[in-house]
Amino acid sequence: MATTELNFKVEHVEESAVTKVDWENLVFGKTFTDHMLVMDYADGAWEQPQILPFQSILMHPAMSSIHYGQSIFEGLKAYRQMDGKVAVFRPDMNAKRFNESAERMCMPQIPEHLFVEMVRKIVEIDQAWVSGIEGHSLYIRPFMFATDHWVGIKPSDTYKFMILLSPVGTYYSELVRVKIESYYTRAAVGGVGRAKAAGNYGASLYPAKFAQANGYHQLVWTDAKEHKFIEESGTMNILFQINDTLITPSEEEDTILRGVTKRSILEIAAHWGINVQERKISVEEIIHAANSGVLQDAFGAGTAASLAQIALIGYKGIDYMLPPVETRTISNRLKTYLTDVKIGAVEDELGWNLLV
Ligand SMILES: *Cc1c(COP(=O)(O)O)cnc(C)c1O
Repeated sequence: MATTELNFKVEHVEESAVTKVDWENLVFGKTFTDHMLVMDYADGAWEQPQILPFQSILMHPAMSSIHYGQSIFEGLKAYRQMDGKVAVFRPDMNAKRFNESAERMCMPQIPEHLFVEMVRKIVEIDQAWVSGIEGHSLYIRPFMFATDHWVGIKPSDTYKFMILLSPVGTYYSELVRVKIESYYTRAAVGGVGRAKAAGNYGASLYPAKFAQANGYHQLVWTDAKEHKFIEESGTMNILFQINDTLITPSEEEDTILRGVTKRSILEIAAHWGINVQERKISVEEIIHAANSGVLQDAFGAGTAASLAQIALIGYKGIDYMLPPVETRTISNRLKTYLTDVKIGAVEDELGWNLLV
C-alpha cells in the first residue's frame, strides 16, 4: 500500500437526507445514503480511500469497463441490533470472495482487512440509515471497475473501487416460484460463474425474462453441458431437503457462486446435527423426489433475500408443488436463526457479526 491503510479522507454532507426516507415504501436498491466510498488504483497501488457525499461520477467514453466488462461487485448487509448497535454480517467472507473475483478478472487485490475496514467505516458514518424496522437492513454494495481511457483489450492499469449503501426492506413478500432452465446457461466450467462479475448478471436477464413472463420469479440454472445438474437459482444458491437431509450442489467446479448465506446455513445446520450434503444433484433426482413425496423443501439462499422458501418448481411444463411452508421445520428454524443472529436476538455463537 502506498498510503497509510487506515487513513480515510472524509467529507461529510451538510445535511443528512435520512429524514426524507419513505421507510414503508423502499424499493430494493433505489435509495442511497448520504455518503459513498471511493478509492482509486493507479501506478500499481491503491490510493487513499475517500468518503464523500453521494454523487455522480464523471467517466471517459472509452473507459475500459464499459467496453470490455472488467467489473466486479459484492453484496452484504448491516443490521440494527436489538440493543441499538449496528453489525455487519460476515464482511471477511465478502472481502475474500471479492479478491477471488478480482483475480479471475485480472484486477488488483484489496487487502482483506482494508476491505473490511472500509465497509465498517462507511457504515459507521451512515449508521443512522440502518433502520430498526423488522425485516429492514442496510445493503452494502462494494464494487470495482476498470477505468483506463483506452479501447484496447488488455487488463486496465487503473481501477476505481467504491462502496454504496442502500436501505432496504424485505425482498420477497411471497414464496418463490422457480423454473428449471434447460436451454440457457449461466456459467460454464472454466468460465466466470464463480466470480461476482458484472457480465454474468447482464447475461442472465434474457432467459429470466421468459421465465417471468410465464409467472416464475427466477430460473434454476443447470450445468452448461447437458442441463442435467442443478447449479443455483437466479442470484441465490439453492438447497433442497430430501427426507431429513439438506443437500446443495457442490462448489467443486467453478460455475457456482460461493455464497456467504449458503455457507452460513450449512455451518449452522451441521452445528445442529442436521445431515448436510454438498454434492452433484441431478434434475431427475429432484423431480423423482417431488413425485415420490420425499422432497420436503427447497429454498434459495442469498444476502438480498436471506432464506427464500420455494413454493413450486417448474420443469418441462409441469409445476411440482412443495409442501406447505408450516411443515418445513428445518428451513423455518434456519430462517429464524439467521435473522435472530443478524439482529443480535440470539448469541452470535459462531462469531459472524462485526460491530461497527
Ligand atoms: C451473490 C450471489 C449469491 C449469494 O451469495 P451471498 O454471499 O449469500 O449473498 C448466489 N448466487 C449468485 C449468482 C450470486 O451472485
